[in-house]
Amino acid sequence: MIKSRVKVTRTIADSRKAIGKMRESGLKIGFVPTMGALHLGHISLIQKAKELVDVVIVSIFVNPTQFGPREDFSSYPRPLQKDLELCEEHDVSMVFHPDVDEMYGEENLIDIKAGEMAKYLCGKSRPDHFDGVLQVVNKLFNIIRPDVAVFGQKDIQQLYVIRQMVSEFKMDLDVVMAPTKRESDGLAISSRNVYLTSSQRKSAPFLYQTLCDLADLIKSGQEDIQPFIRSRSAEFKEKGLIIDYLSCAEPPRMVPVSRIKKNRDYILAGAVFAGDTRLIDNLIIHT
Ligand code: AMP
Repeated sequence: MIKSRVKVTRTIADSRKAIGKMRESGLKIGFVPTMGALHLGHISLIQKAKELVDVVIVSIFVNPTQFGPREDFSSYPRPLQKDLELCEEHDVSMVFHPDVDEMYGEENLIDIKAGEMAKYLCGKSRPDHFDGVLQVVNKLFNIIRPDVAVFGQKDIQQLYVIRQMVSEFKMDLDVVMAPTKRESDGLAISSRNVYLTSSQRKSAPFLYQTLCDLADLIKSGQEDIQPFIRSRSAEFKEKGLIIDYLSCAEPPRMVPVSRIKKNRDYILAGAVFAGDTRLIDNLIIHT
């Protein structure tokens, strides 16, 4: 039995009723979609939303359609009681926490595809992942109808895919990016960090360290980053980490580049496996 002082809705109808009242009172609505297991990264998105609007709604829903068949959907952490306490502590006005049937009970006859936006990086490594993200975010946007939705830089390709959907489908909201929150040793905070063994946890900040070193190399004028990337793969292996990708990519489609050009925005992005746990991180740079 879940006890909560923050308002929790489990159905679309109840959510629409509550949000309708907020809107009638003239309140601007901010929305932070999450899969729960809330941490300081999620809290920073709530705080960012609060700076921009009057009320903040958080969704907690572990979305099955964005997990691959061998991924961690069933083992994904679901500490709901603690999540609700954090939401209350941070003045969230409502938590939408539907079950899978509420979101997917209807027969699914129409597909939404991330297409060209999902050809590279995480889109390439996790086939169908961004289609599942768009499917659920599209539903969530239609249920909540927020003025502003806040997403983390940590999942930057996800943010670009969602921005593209909002733009192409003429959705009436702003998609805002909040910076990545990190542990004191640089590791990007993630709900999946709890899966790491103590030795994997020690190695994990090497991903962020490598992205910082790559940024320094590029700032020093190096145009060909392949030798650096090749030399790092062996070091990752020694630390028990396997590189999925390590790239300099052009936003928003995240096309990896082989030569760095002047006066461009790039995303330095990496994904590594520590055992079965996949860690991602990125830095935004301007050359
Ligand atoms: P998730 O619950 O992992 O689906 O993430 C929900 C939102 O929190 C997404 O917009 C993520 O990009 C964002 N997020 C996750 N980790 C962090 C972090 N360390 N810093 C900032 N935002 C984050």
